Amino acid sequence: MIIRKAEYTASAVNRQQYPENSGPEIALAGRSNVGKSSLINKFINRKNLARTGNTPGKTQMLNFYHINDEWFFVDLPGYGYAKVSKDVHSRWGKMMEEYFSTRENLRAVIQVVDIRHKPSAEDQEMQAFLRTRGIPVLVAATKADKIARGQWPKYLKVIAESLNLPDWQMILPFSAESGNGLDDLHKAVEEILTV
Ligand code: GDP
Repeated sequence: MIIRKAEYTASAVNRQQYPENSGPEIALAGRSNVGKSSLINKFINRKNLARTGNTPGKTQMLNFYHINDEWFFVDLPGYGYAKVSKDVHSRWGKMMEEYFSTRENLRAVIQVVDIRHKPSAEDQEMQAFLRTRGIPVLVAATKADKIARGQWPKYLKVIAESLNLPDWQMILPFSAESGNGLDDLHKAVEEILTV
């Protein structure tokens, strides 16, 4: 996929704030700090369009990025902040529920996990939730540069088992650092968008 154009369009906490411009959307879900923004930046070959690291505010919203004037990446607010209050947690749940239940443009979710770690209970819940809703989900195991390539299969197996993935479902190893997996991710996104 050739990225001709990528621009940040909107941040939203409710559906009134979603961009009106219709077009297919691919959302990214994952724990805070897992590397979603870095994956987006690598994908579109920009250093810092999606906010990385600690950017207060934007991290608790849905962030829309318009790609090639055709489709959107939607960076969903990260889950698993140990310290958030009940209020924040319930606001997060409502934002996610509203998006998943109303957004007809949604084509698929890329669930981003850290290749080094067994997925958390929240990762498992997210996977089960998406499957129940019949939303296609691609699992990307990022930070693959932190582990020797020969070890990848071992780690991917732990992730697949923990997320209870069906046998046919592949996990895509990825690294925003080295660019590993980038071509495969481009291909996967192309496929999602052409269905
Ligand atoms: P987000 O909160 O999920 O958007 O996470 P970020 O993209 O901001 O990444 C969190 C931290 O992990 C940052 O310090 C990144 O530099 C680092 N990071 C993200 N992806 C990778 C990767 O593929 N490899 C390595 N080594 N570090 C990464």
